[in-house]
Amino acid sequence: MAIGFIFPRLKSPERWILAGDCLSVLTIAWGVALSGGLQSPLLPLFVLPLVAVAGRHTLPVVTGFTALCLGAPLLAAVVAVNRGVNYAGAPRVVADFAAITGVAAITIALMRAEWQYRHQSLLDPLTGLLNRLALDRRFEELRTQAALSDGVICLIAADIDHFKAVNDAHGHDVGDIVLRDVAYSLRTSLRTFSLLYRVGGEEFIAILPGLGTRDGALVAERLRSGVEECRPRGVQITMSFGVAGAIGRNVDYERLFASADYCLYEAKRAGRNRVVAEIPESEPPGGKNDSTGAATG
Ligand code: GH3
Ligand code: MG
Ligand code: MG
Repeated sequence: MAIGFIFPRLKSPERWILAGDCLSVLTIAWGVALSGGLQSPLLPLFVLPLVAVAGRHTLPVVTGFTALCLGAPLLAAVVAVNRGVNYAGAPRVVADFAAITGVAAITIALMRAEWQYRHQSLLDPLTGLLNRLALDRRFEELRTQAALSDGVICLIAADIDHFKAVNDAHGHDVGDIVLRDVAYSLRTSLRTFSLLYRVGGEEFIAILPGLGTRDGALVAERLRSGVEECRPRGVQITMSFGVAGAIGRNVDYERLFASADYCLYEAKRAGRNRVVAEIPESEPPGGKNDSTGAATG
């Protein structure tokens, strides 16, 4: 009860947990010293706090803790000798030490692999942007926030125009460079609080928390003109944009995406290289005005 009350208030609870793990090592060492030193049946217990620490902390901390888990039994052994224990019976200490280092090495390797996997599964390797899975996770948080604070969210769906023709005319490698440079142009045209994802081959989604549809359309226009100007490898690229917004409890990804995608389709149908926005009647004119451009479409 008291721990549940105190822990949320601590500034760095992980340090206190680490201190607790160090205390466990010293307690086990004391038990080892009293129960035969290097011949103690308690020696393998050092693995337990080591596994707990290896799953939770950074590599330098885990390395230091492993050193503690290897040093503590030695200290216990010295104490045991002083208490009159003799090690004539060839202690199985080598096996225990090998187990401790083995468990540490395996846990660290698993931890690193999981971290790398999580990192890779959220990032698109070509553009360095976050991918669809990352969008799903983040949007859920934004939806909850908007519902609680009655906030607005704008979603921009963007698609490169005639990208297949770019690949056909210049090759797939240049197509990849174009994708990378377009992604860079989009990212640098957005404010820092906006989020950008690559959700398909040449399709991107920007999420603008706190902006209504009108302001979102101005941002999309800025993105459109940025892409038009960037000319990767001298290739003229244009992009079409669909914009939709929602407020408070009406923020729902499927609905927002369907509206923005419909607008994108309209932008393509109207001749491409343009922004089409669906501005709800309930949205007041004006707003926070994030952009310097003007909405088209
Ligand atoms: P629209 O203006 O209607 O969007 O026409 P489009 O040609 O852009 O659309 P379409 O969906 O027909 O073609 C998309 C192309 O994007 C087809 C595919 O070869 C290309 N593409 C998808 N992913 C990649 C990628 O990672 N690298 C490269 N180079 N091309 C890709
Ligand atoms: Mg396209
Ligand atoms: Mg497409």
